[in-house]
Amino acid sequence: MTYLVNGLYIVAFGMFIYGLMGLTGPKTAVRGNLIAAVGMFIAVVATLISVRHTSNWILIIAGLVVGIALGVPPAKFTKMTAMPQLVAAFNGVGGGTVALIAWSEFINSQGFSHFDEEPTVHIVVGSLFAAIIGSVSFWGSLVAFGKLQEILPGRPIGLGRLQQPLNLLLLVGAIAAAVVIGVGATNDGVSQVWMIAVLVLAGVLGLAVVLPIGGADMPVVISLLNALTGLSAAAAGLALNNTAMIVAGMIVGASGTILTNLMAKAMNRSIPAIVAGGFGGGGTAPGAGGDGEAKQAKATSAADAAIQMAYANQVIVVPGYGMAVAQAQHAVKEMAALLEAKGVEVKYAIHPVAGRMPGHMNVLLAEAEVSYDALKEMDDINGEFSRTDVALVIGANDVTNPAAREDASSPIYGMPVLNVDQAKSVIVLKRSMNSGFAGIDNPLFYADHTSMLFGDAKKSVGAVTEELKAL
Ligand code: NDP
Repeated sequence: MTYLVNGLYIVAFGMFIYGLMGLTGPKTAVRGNLIAAVGMFIAVVATLISVRHTSNWILIIAGLVVGIALGVPPAKFTKMTAMPQLVAAFNGVGGGTVALIAWSEFINSQGFSHFDEEPTVHIVVGSLFAAIIGSVSFWGSLVAFGKLQEILPGRPIGLGRLQQPLNLLLLVGAIAAAVVIGVGATNDGVSQVWMIAVLVLAGVLGLAVVLPIGGADMPVVISLLNALTGLSAAAAGLALNNTAMIVAGMIVGASGTILTNLMAKAMNRSIPAIVAGGFGGGGTAPGAGGDGEAKQAKATSAADAAIQMAYANQVIVVPGYGMAVAQAQHAVKEMAALLEAKGVEVKYAIHPVAGRMPGHMNVLLAEAEVSYDALKEMDDINGEFSRTDVALVIGANDVTNPAAREDASSPIYGMPVLNVDQAKSVIVLKRSMNSGFAGIDNPLFYADHTSMLFGDAKKSVGAVTEELKAL
């Protein structure tokens, strides 16, 4: 039986890794996700086979049914724009599960003394690490979910200068309670109170770390919490001697850490700076402000935009968060097809953090069946703007802001951006002069060669399409 279980685990691990490789490109992402999901199903079956001697089958099946009932509907019906909060919720559930596993192990073992031999260091440390990190991750993810869903205010909520000492105190407290349990692990009956103290202190730490972070930084925080959940699952796997949990947890921990780093780099933010809070408090900052009103942005019409593009050799579409909000991707595809029929080359410039989650634009454009070959990553397309007739910015703002390149005093200075301003002509589709996620003005909108087509992106693209049909 052990051979069968281990064999199934190895198959599952292979599928996790193969599935993850699929996630590196939009063409293979859906298949990759499916392969990894089948891998997880095999790992669950293998684990169930390995626990033959249990009287809790009814509980296990009830748990599976409740999990499927709660997990499938939101995964199927949540809108793309709400994906970050769904990931936060799912991640939180993972962290909470790990913390509960650690707690139940503790209850079952009455202080780990149920093991035939003395509990080894890796069992005790693994369980306690899982309890702390799992609890931090659960409560932190709940706050992240609340901020993104606007149940909680997006602005930073904290104690200012007292915040960091408080966080340190909570961390030291949780570790101290864990050490008390660890030291008493070989004695019978280490009081439950210590385990509850570990979980409560770590939970308050999760709240205290995430509440002071602005809603705008939440996607990076979720990625970080996701990496922590992976590590806590791996630690719980050590304690339970479950290889599948160790491997899956390490894969999640490692990939989550890499993703967090990539996102922070693409936003030119350091992870410690994000965790310390500040920038991006709410994502609803006011628009161009006094400065913007002094400068004049030129408005244009759908008819003018259509004429400019119809006579261009090349148009680069620059999608951003506004395209996701307006759900304009299908309309964009239709407009691009008309342009292509007129002999215009249409490409799409994809910034790594356009939208509100990694790959947001790729997913939307793939949904509209835009050819993958037309999607160009920032580094590949940036050199092309200067020889492009029209850059059509659809609900993008920060990722096109030239201040990131030129203005050392800008909060986003150093963030890699799309060189949209270098195109011969720029048309920006958005509803107003309001700022984007970073809450700052964008000089691109006031440039001589830029014109603004105000309105909801889907309606504006539709209007341009109608004009193109008439040309
Ligand atoms: P921005 O948030 O900078 O700007 C989006 C713009 O879309 C707004 O200025 C808004 O202007 C416009 N908009 C909103 N709704 C509509 C609509 N219905 N029709 C037309 N326009 C609309 O988006 P970007 O994609 O340029 O940049 C992404 C930002 O998010 C970056 O700052 C990035 O760092 C950040 N971020 C991204 C993450 C990711 O993983 N992708 C993660 C975390 C943060 P108006 O209100 O005037 O219409």
